[in-house]
Amino acid sequence: MKAFEKNIRKVQPYVPGEQPRRPVVKLNTNENPYPPAPGVKKALQELDTDRQRLYPDPDCRELVRHLADWYGVGEDQVFVGVGSDDVLSMCFLTFFNSEKPIFFPDVTYSFYKVWADLYRIPYECKPLDEDFRLVKEDYYGENGGIIFPNPNAPTGIYEELETVEEILNHNRDVIVIVDEAYIDFGGRSALELLDRYDNLIVTQTFSKARSMAGMRIGYAIASPALIKYLLDAKFSFNSYTMNQASIACGSAALEDRKYFEENLRKIIRTRERAKEEFARLGFCCLDSKANFLFVTHPEYSGEELFQALKEEGIYVRFWGSPRIEDYLRVTIGTEEEMEILFEFLRNYMKK
Ligand SMILES: *Cc1c(COP(=O)(O)O)cnc(C)c1O
Repeated sequence: MKAFEKNIRKVQPYVPGEQPRRPVVKLNTNENPYPPAPGVKKALQELDTDRQRLYPDPDCRELVRHLADWYGVGEDQVFVGVGSDDVLSMCFLTFFNSEKPIFFPDVTYSFYKVWADLYRIPYECKPLDEDFRLVKEDYYGENGGIIFPNPNAPTGIYEELETVEEILNHNRDVIVIVDEAYIDFGGRSALELLDRYDNLIVTQTFSKARSMAGMRIGYAIASPALIKYLLDAKFSFNSYTMNQASIACGSAALEDRKYFEENLRKIIRTRERAKEEFARLGFCCLDSKANFLFVTHPEYSGEELFQALKEEGIYVRFWGSPRIEDYLRVTIGTEEEMEILFEFLRNYMKK
């Protein structure tokens, strides 16, 4: 081993879902099957090329103002970043600096572990119960901070706001982050608790409900004091995280509430139909409130189904990790895409 090896930061990186090159039915990374709001296209076409020689606005004021208006919060309560992955990573760096472990569920977004390792933050994973529900009491012990998604990923299960509030109540001395990447698909946001809990941070993203994963926009909403800490960390890291196109397009998307709501309605309708169809085929399908379903079949292994689907050009997500080795996560696509999936499964299972 070379002497310099011992001083190198070594990490086990997050493994994102595949981005296949050839056209396939892509139900593996929870992207939205519908295009962004029409205003986004217009904003992109009207983008001033000459202005690209200038740095973007480091404060992203236009986007921050649009988000503050949308949620009815102060502009000093909004932090934006390059996808919520960037925002969450900044939160880990900024808020999780205790010697005590941070807590998150054992079956959850696998990036949490990666950031904890990267920043050398101690952590403890709290097992979900046998129905993949959060056990709130597990989060009452001494800790250095808490993070969980609601709805959870990859299960899609939504925990009622009362549960979130009880966790907050038992953790007044640490930062609690609720990762709401999927909240628009069917849950009440913890944003309404912000007034009462100055230790709460809610993060959301444009990648799923707003059909803009390619633009990389995420945000955190919290008290002005916490947002200030995030900004200080960001400006110590990279002042120009968000490019001009993302700022303009993100703002344009927030000017069209009607399109947003119609987009959600379509996906929720398809999701509820897909739940029934999976059940008809003998799958056990968790009651997801997100834009994906977490399914398992008593007669087929997860691996077998994953491979068979992939050979057919139908991509879903499969981890094969403990507790979820036989589960597949299937993103809700268009009605047509879901029919291709179900048609294949019906034939494969001879049902
Ligand atoms: C998709 C996702 C994110 C990150 O999304 P970005 O594209 O980085 O905004 C964060 N948390 C969860 C639980 C997700 O599923």
